Amino acid sequence: MDRFFRYCHFLKSSNFGFSLPSGAIANYLKFKLGTLPDILPSGYSFPILDICATRRCNLSCSFCTLGGFPKDWQKFELTPQKFENILAMDMFKKSIFVVLEGGEPLLNKDLPELVAMARAKKHLVGLITNGLLLGERAKDLQRAGVCDMQVSVYDNTYDKLTKILPSVSHLFPMNASYVLLKSKLEQSANNNFSEIIDIIKMCKDAGCASLKFNIVVSTYSTRDFSEIITDTSAAMYSDMISVCKNNLKGVSFSGYNSKGGLPTKQFTVFFPAPTLLEAPTKRACRVPWMLLNMDANGNFVPCCVLRENYGMHGNVLEDVDSLNADKLVRIRRSLMNSTLPLEPECVGCVKLIDEYMSTI
Ligand code: SF4
Repeated sequence: MDRFFRYCHFLKSSNFGFSLPSGAIANYLKFKLGTLPDILPSGYSFPILDICATRRCNLSCSFCTLGGFPKDWQKFELTPQKFENILAMDMFKKSIFVVLEGGEPLLNKDLPELVAMARAKKHLVGLITNGLLLGERAKDLQRAGVCDMQVSVYDNTYDKLTKILPSVSHLFPMNASYVLLKSKLEQSANNNFSEIIDIIKMCKDAGCASLKFNIVVSTYSTRDFSEIITDTSAAMYSDMISVCKNNLKGVSFSGYNSKGGLPTKQFTVFFPAPTLLEAPTKRACRVPWMLLNMDANGNFVPCCVLRENYGMHGNVLEDVDSLNADKLVRIRRSLMNSTLPLEPECVGCVKLIDEYMSTI
């Protein structure tokens, strides 16, 4: 399923917009078509609330942007009481989507109730999960009203997901993602990219609607450029894409080196463009306007890349003006105006050059 049909599914799930919060569509059109402000005005509403349902995780990936599992994790657990206060905030009243993520959100025992609360406020609800607990929890989540599931596939979960995903992929559109490290690209090149082809086949055979390859972004403070696929690896990356296209039938390809065709319901693979290490002329990222990424206590970050230290930028429950802290205004300005120096946090970020990756 490509983006067109994914959007059709959102439209259908929202009763063609009639079941969304009042003003949500006008607010989204303003975000897509209007001039984006460097200073967010009072009453600004984010099209997406991206909330950390728990900081716990049943994995510990080297490239995770969350910055580890805190000893006092209970303090960061999203509870129905906390969520009620968050959903009541003006800045989320017109949000189309509520995305629950983590950590691993399926570890939060209240997850179905949280989903139902967001649905009761007419938001569409998506989850970002590593999928390991879907076998136990998917049916409850479907009943609660989840309409979109993004499953992150990793090398160390591949075997388990091969068994879990086929049993739950009929419940909601299952959109897989896979973080492609440069070392993996190089290693698979020695094998004519057979591991990459296997990953695509596994997701397709498991009944997923799509698979999006991600180039690792890692956190700002620990960014390791050695694992980022940049334009210097573009030739090898292009080879990988060609081999995938030549060897996979019944698959549609989009993104880098892939011409967009007619909309299709076929299983779709998306390839992002390699990252640039210098500031590009066109800065496409729209994340700081599109969503607010926050934890259960109101600590927020402008995007997941800067997420390792929730609260570093401010807390919207304690001080709504922290949305316009100097640093954040500078980031927004530098994204809108390519004659300004690019803020260092954004250098080498895959979303900087790829509007597909940075917006809905
Ligand atoms: S370019 Fe990357 S780091 Fe900068 S705001 Fe966008 S997502 Fe965040």
